[in-house]
Amino acid sequence: MGRKKESKTAVCPVCGTRVEPTRTWNLVSPIPDSKGRITITVMGSFECPNCGRKWRGVVSKIKVGGAGVEVEAGGSKKVLGGEGEVKREGEVIELDVEEILSEPEEE
Ligand SMILES: [Zn+2]
Repeated sequence: MGRKKESKTAVCPVCGTRVEPTRTWNLVSPIPDSKGRITITVMGSFECPNCGRKWRGVVSKIKVGGAGVEVEAGGSKKVLGGEGEVKREGEVIELDVEEILSEPEEE
């Protein structure tokens, strides 16, 4: 088949079955790379329905910062140039922090 595999699937190292992650989580690297970008690595827990093999692996990598967002998944890279959306996302996080720091409302 010539179709590209889905970005979130991995191939079982034992039998070669395509497996979707049972669980995913993000690892954020606190140190920017040489281009000043933060790398967010999406990790996945996999369990092969065919042979029962369990393993963990990288599902995708997202690089944030600099000129845009670079998404690396399934062996392919996508560079998103949308400055506005990325910045808006940062502002949302700042608002969340303010909310946490503000005093609770009086009853
Ligand atoms: Zn397997």
